[in-house]
Amino acid sequence: MVLQIKDLKVRIGQKQILQHIDLDVKAGEVHVIMGLNGTGKSTLLKALAGSYECESEGRVFYKGEELLSLAPHERAAKGLFMSFQNPIEIEGLNSIYFLKTALSEQMKFRGEEPLKAPEFMKKLKEKMAFLEMDEGMLNRSLNVGFSGGEKKRFEILQMMMLNPELILLDEIDSGLDIDALKIVAKGVNAMRDGKRAIVIVTHYSRLLEYIDADFVHILDKGIIAKSGTARLAFELEEQGYEQILHTH
Ligand code: ADP
Ligand code: MG
Repeated sequence: MVLQIKDLKVRIGQKQILQHIDLDVKAGEVHVIMGLNGTGKSTLLKALAGSYECESEGRVFYKGEELLSLAPHERAAKGLFMSFQNPIEIEGLNSIYFLKTALSEQMKFRGEEPLKAPEFMKKLKEKMAFLEMDEGMLNRSLNVGFSGGEKKRFEILQMMMLNPELILLDEIDSGLDIDALKIVAKGVNAMRDGKRAIVIVTHYSRLLEYIDADFVHILDKGIIAKSGTARLAFELEEQGYEQILHTH
């Protein structure tokens, strides 16, 4: 089991956002979380990644280890990756420097020898070619002036470079045209090797046409109100949340 969530409750400030979340994600599985705006999908991922905004109670295990007591950078170094719904722009932080430093620091934390510059560049160029990205992006400040699609693609590039075991993707498909969506999906599918676990938050069942999900969960009022297979996402598209959550 890569991720095991037991009775997780999450508060932001005075507001109880998540009431009771139970979720098991095994190696090789892709779970999709859907729900109306404001139901706490991003909060769930942020709590798992260790955002300081979130006050979490309950138990979460990552590969058997208690996750909630670890600092965000420890979670990341141990193989947890989260892509942001709205990636932040950092003026003056060179994108390539950011990627190199993130990877080197994680490798050091794990007691591995960081990649030498030529190896790093080779790997980076391979991944960028795979994601059909323009290398010119690398010399720009992190996310500054990137289009919505470029930001999402850069998140996927980070994921591929960091090689995480638990992947949390927040609305990686929002604002993408169909070509960019296919490339993002290609990146995610490339990470499906039976060892990793993937949790994807999305609004649209469209993503599920390109990524095969094993399970779909609908978040409502702080709990997982309904779970099913990928079919649930398509039913949702046809019938709407009201119908799906309040009948049968
Ligand atoms: P979703 O991703 O499902 O749209 P979010 O997890 O972003 O939902 O937000 C869930 C709820 O938490 C919303 O009502 C939102 O306004 C609230 N919320 C999120 N972040 C904060 C914050 N930093 N301070 C106060 N409320 C927040
Ligand atoms: Mg969100």
